[in-house]
Amino acid sequence: MADAGAGAKGNPLLQDFDFPPFDVVKAKHVRPGILALLKELEGDLEELERTVEPSWPKLVEPLEKIVDRLTVVWGMISHLKAVKDTADLRAAIEEVQAEKVKFQLRLGQSKPVYNAFKALQESPDWNMLSDAQKRIVESKIKEAVLNGVALEDGKREEFNKIEQELEKLSTKFEENVLDATKKFEKLITDRKDIEGLPATALGLAAQTAVSKGHENATPDNGPWVITLDAPSFMAVMQHARNRALREEIYRAYITRASSGDIDNTLIIDQILKLRLEKAKLLGYNNYAEVSMAMKMATVDKAEELLEKLRSASWDAAVQDMEDIKHFSKSQGATESDDLSHWDINFWSERLRESKFDINEEELRPYFSLPKVMEGLFNLARTLFGIEIEAADGLAPVWNSDVRFYCVKDSSGKPIAYFYFDPYSRPSEKRGGAWMDEVVARSRVLSRDGTSARLPVAHMVCNQTPPVGNKPSLMTFREVGSVFHEFGHALQHMLTKQDEGLVAGIRGIECDAVELPSQFMVNWCYHKDTLMGIAKHYETGENLPEDVYIKLLAARTFRAGSISLHQIRFASVDLQLHTKYVPGGPESVYDVDRRVSERTQVIPPLPEDRFLCSFIHIFAGGYAAGYYSYKWAEVLSADAFSAFEDAGLDDSKAVQETGQRFRETILALGGGKAPLQVFIEFRGREPSPDALLRHNGLLPIAA
Ligand SMILES: [Zn+2]
Repeated sequence: MADAGAGAKGNPLLQDFDFPPFDVVKAKHVRPGILALLKELEGDLEELERTVEPSWPKLVEPLEKIVDRLTVVWGMISHLKAVKDTADLRAAIEEVQAEKVKFQLRLGQSKPVYNAFKALQESPDWNMLSDAQKRIVESKIKEAVLNGVALEDGKREEFNKIEQELEKLSTKFEENVLDATKKFEKLITDRKDIEGLPATALGLAAQTAVSKGHENATPDNGPWVITLDAPSFMAVMQHARNRALREEIYRAYITRASSGDIDNTLIIDQILKLRLEKAKLLGYNNYAEVSMAMKMATVDKAEELLEKLRSASWDAAVQDMEDIKHFSKSQGATESDDLSHWDINFWSERLRESKFDINEEELRPYFSLPKVMEGLFNLARTLFGIEIEAADGLAPVWNSDVRFYCVKDSSGKPIAYFYFDPYSRPSEKRGGAWMDEVVARSRVLSRDGTSARLPVAHMVCNQTPPVGNKPSLMTFREVGSVFHEFGHALQHMLTKQDEGLVAGIRGIECDAVELPSQFMVNWCYHKDTLMGIAKHYETGENLPEDVYIKLLAARTFRAGSISLHQIRFASVDLQLHTKYVPGGPESVYDVDRRVSERTQVIPPLPEDRFLCSFIHIFAGGYAAGYYSYKWAEVLSADAFSAFEDAGLDDSKAVQETGQRFRETILALGGGKAPLQVFIEFRGREPSPDALLRHNGLLPIAA
């Protein structure tokens, strides 16, 4: 490998570009490129700290340049890791990761930068700043305060110690969950014991058996190994006719990492104790307040929403239980009067099959990728007045299947670009679907010195590739996920925000960021939109009407139960981060039990220890934030209901509402508080009514 000095010269990561040179960046460029970049940015930061003044050009502009450079270059390599992974690339990124994190910490904790922001806020210039600029200053101050920058030296040391300790505990928590999950395996040798499992699940179980040394295992003849990994666990819960097997697997699942030498109980208490100490150091009453400091919700509003949804969901969930009881009885199940946790998923699936019998695979011919994209682009034209044109060849791409598009406004002027990487490539590409920024709109980073740099996004999916003359054919779920990611991309691309730090998806509170994405998914259930794209790829015939009706009905199947399930998680998360006293008279399991009594139709088993594997809040980024899932659903459903109110059949009203959506939710980025943005669009604060109505949980008014 070349040395860092020579590598930096001509390194594509360090070049100036209109569109990133995705076609030439290789693993060998990563180490020298990133190290040289960090060195350069380190110098820029020192220079900024030396010359900083509390003014826009002497503080925020140079800061934006530093932040942007790191975001864009690091974004390139982590994107390549996700779509064109190699062992070399992964190793190269791992090698420089720590250096990058170190620089980010240093940047986030810079005292001179923090002091300048404070001074700017108190200076006479403050009133000259735009709303977006004020939001940047305020959120930079808040971020720094939450990073401990404002603390006196002694307390700051204490703060840093807590942070380090929390980091370690979270890592240990997650490792324990993984180890406990891995430790369990159930060998099955008799075909009778595994009846009901679909072919894919049998295949998985046999494959697992092979990997555990049963080299002759086959899907048909076994042996099979069941594990607690989600696909294996869920297959048993939903499909295994053997009730004793379901019970055994269920009990193992809800007690993961809760006993013996893999026990997260003490770690949970330690994490909650340290988070509370951290909150107190920062001047907050509890950790939930710290979490909400950078979010749209407040603790009170989140709790109020969860209670509203809970009470609206309860009766429906009780009815769901009744339904499967009757159904199981009609099928001759002996357990129907005594249904337990390990029966619910199984009988729900049987009921779903009998009611809707939609076979996802059989719908594929109606959803061909070219038709779906055409329909999506037409919808964007109707709603937002934009044109999307193929621009392949304009920008370098990482794979020849990747498409490149230009987005134009109604006058034909380019306003944004995006890449679309549609097909599955298991050997080098991560699963799932996602969207991210390549660059954001920015005045400071103007390419020509006059007009703002235009935003660029990428969208990645994992569709089945075309075979011969057959286009890529999608499931209805995959159609939904393309709409979802396109919603994110629209918010990034249609931004009119020129301040790069809050343009597009940047600077939007994380409990508000799923609004445009989930909003777009609503259109998949809109009859004209769906029928416009759902045409058989060979015969051109429409999706049969009765299938459409079943798709609609399936959307609200067991909505009350599903909603309560999420509300239990969200509520216990909030309780543990507000009222819970670590080491006090009530244990974390008592808290969960108390919450569950109000959120579960059948109370959990006394030995339920699901908290010991609740990675989202103890090792993920969702501490006092699990409510965000429901919060964002409320926003997106309520936003869609503006179109329903205007009249979905009234094309002029739909267009006007679409324009308003574009000018507010899609245009303002992080430059305005999300509640304000929402009110500007909707004319009022968000209400959960639309979500409840879409879920079939709103009593119909007389
Ligand atoms: Zn999303």
